[in-house]
Amino acid sequence: QFITLDGIDGAGKSTNLDVMKNWFAERRLPVVFTREPGGTPVGEALREILLNPATRAGLRTETLLMFAARQQHIETVILPNLKKGIHVISDRFTDATFAYQGGGRGVPFADIETLENWVQGSLRPNLTLLLDVPLEISMNRIAQTREKDRFEQEQADFFIRVRDAYLTRAAAAPKRYAIIDSNRDLAAVKHSIETVLDRHFQA
Ligand code: C5P
Repeated sequence: QFITLDGIDGAGKSTNLDVMKNWFAERRLPVVFTREPGGTPVGEALREILLNPATRAGLRTETLLMFAARQQHIETVILPNLKKGIHVISDRFTDATFAYQGGGRGVPFADIETLENWVQGSLRPNLTLLLDVPLEISMNRIAQTREKDRFEQEQADFFIRVRDAYLTRAAAAPKRYAIIDSNRDLAAVKHSIETVLDRHFQA
């Protein structure tokens, strides 16, 4: 199974990745955890470029770099593991490109879809956990991190568009997405994630 975790900055991805790690560890299921942009040496190098305010690229360049990192990730990490029967959990995937480069920065969704089809072929996540929080909460959480990466320096209206794009995409394919309300105490969010995983792996 190919499972992705996504959501706006400050939605609590890191904490909830730990919940997922524990869920898999307790069941002794073979799994690799990886992330985007990144996950491979080339991808991590591209991540540095993408997150550094000094190397901010144009919209199309940024989108292509995201997909360049993704291509390498798919070829060398995602597909080889899936073929061996190892589950792959990615911290962000193409939904983030639709949300940030598409919704946030205005790259036409149709262009992103073209790249998605070219780079991924038929590969799509089996399940996407979308962590959702109201903007005020995520902005507060980001404000508490000392060093902001270049995306986190954006203004509130940027994140409103990003969040809307995530939610619209999830609404269009409700079978693939589990929207997790992350504006609750940690135990409640943890319980939701575990329930989603339980159900998914029962099916
Ligand atoms: O997930 P993580 O917080 O590590 O992502 C690093 C930064 O890259 C975040 O600020 C995220 O919003 C941004 N990003 C992006 N477009 C993507 C993926 C990540 O702007 N497609």
